[in-house]
Amino acid sequence: MSTDQNKFQAIISHCKEYGFVFQSSEIYDGLSAVYDYGQYGSELKKNIKDYWWKSMTQLHENIVGIDAAIFMHPTTWKASGHVDNFSDPMIDNKDSNKRYRVDHLIEGFAETLPQEAANALLAQMDELLKENDFAGLKTLIESNKIKCSISGTSNWTDVRQFNLMFSTQLGSVTDEASEIYLRPETAQGIFVNFLNVQKTGRMKVPFGIAQIGKAFRNEIVARQFIFRMREFEQMEMQFFVRPGTQQEWYEKWKEERMQWHLSLGTDPAKYQFKNHIKLAHYADAAVDIEYEFPFGFKEVEGIHSRTDFDLKQHQEYSKKKIQYFDTEINQNYVPYVIETSIGLDRMFLLTICNAYAEEDLSTEDKQDSRVVLRLPAKLAPVKLAIFPLTKKDGLPELARELMDDCKHAFYCFYEEKDAIGKRYRRQDAIGTPFCVTIDHQTKEDGTVTIRHRDSMEQERIPLSEVKALVLSKIL
Ligand code: ATP
Repeated sequence: MSTDQNKFQAIISHCKEYGFVFQSSEIYDGLSAVYDYGQYGSELKKNIKDYWWKSMTQLHENIVGIDAAIFMHPTTWKASGHVDNFSDPMIDNKDSNKRYRVDHLIEGFAETLPQEAANALLAQMDELLKENDFAGLKTLIESNKIKCSISGTSNWTDVRQFNLMFSTQLGSVTDEASEIYLRPETAQGIFVNFLNVQKTGRMKVPFGIAQIGKAFRNEIVARQFIFRMREFEQMEMQFFVRPGTQQEWYEKWKEERMQWHLSLGTDPAKYQFKNHIKLAHYADAAVDIEYEFPFGFKEVEGIHSRTDFDLKQHQEYSKKKIQYFDTEINQNYVPYVIETSIGLDRMFLLTICNAYAEEDLSTEDKQDSRVVLRLPAKLAPVKLAIFPLTKKDGLPELARELMDDCKHAFYCFYEEKDAIGKRYRRQDAIGTPFCVTIDHQTKEDGTVTIRHRDSMEQERIPLSEVKALVLSKIL
């Protein structure tokens, strides 16, 4: 555990040192659970987004994308159940006034127990959460003598529900009617546009609508870096199906989403499915795809069979008919929905954790090591680094020519300072899969040295083949 914790700390430092992730408003001591992406982080994030978007929309003829606004009519959240149900059971410690999410408090305590005792405790907790038995949860916390990490006491309030939505005012009148919410999920923007897209796109069930966008949740316990944030991004897809076929589509999407994760080359042993024990108010089946982060297996994506709950609710609250006429069976119905919902920031963290490696390269006569991000080439922020060996003899000019030829096709990085070895290591640290060195031989025979990040192997290839080689690895 401790080495994994150390590794996680090292990853957080690495993210900052190499311009991937910064604490938001750091000069003012930061804003808790809010983060900014730096020069390489924003590239990596964009590449993950593009990979998801392409695999969902471009590669599926029956899925289209939209980009709905963050602000929505407040009735949306009444209809979706978020105003009444989007809350977590919380408990406060009376001595420190610190508030905890009950499941996090118990899970944190379980980590200190032997495996068997921890499993038994978590099973009890799951059962009580499923029943919404708040008194039972308090008793469980007290009987296990779970303490607040700040006050060190077990002086707890009762367990209460706490809504996670942020609200703000629309316009200048601060009465209740003008209160609106920052969306806590992107899905509702898809549901309220169901008919718009279906009609204008002449979509036939089964079909899907995909969206990437910001979501906001006033998470009480926000920890583990970008794993749990108050402002984050989701990549969601709602797949509309004929009622009665939802189970079949649920299984299909479960499988398809896992394949998407594995297509990035991650070891399958690092992934697992976890069925939900307590189903959300809208779901008839739900499973999480979990990844083994340095702090344990945790959710990165949810696949939910959301029934016809959302569309029916919007139909009722808007008093507008939201139905689909299925010409194959000559029937009108409200479609059922399978949702796939992945956190972009969590996928980013997964990608970095999975790629980060500290390697000992020492030989008999020399101590050496490197930090390398073994990112899939298609996700790497920089695809190709171009180095003239020296700053003279026409080498920079040749290197610039290559840069000009490649920069329209993919992200390149040019550098002529420092020894080549140092330049290689800096690119390893940001995960650049290929470095090319232009030397005096290039002028003679038109070849360059290309160095491969993972194997550190170097080979000579014609300068004219560099672009095609990189392109073949990043598509
Ligand atoms: P958790 O149990 O971790 O709070 P959740 O089950 O509430 O997550 P969903 O509502 O299913 O999450 O949201 C779908 C996805 O959005 C999650 O799988 C996760 O990747 C991402 N996500 C949810 N909340 C956050 C958050 N606070 N910060 C970053 N990503 C989040």
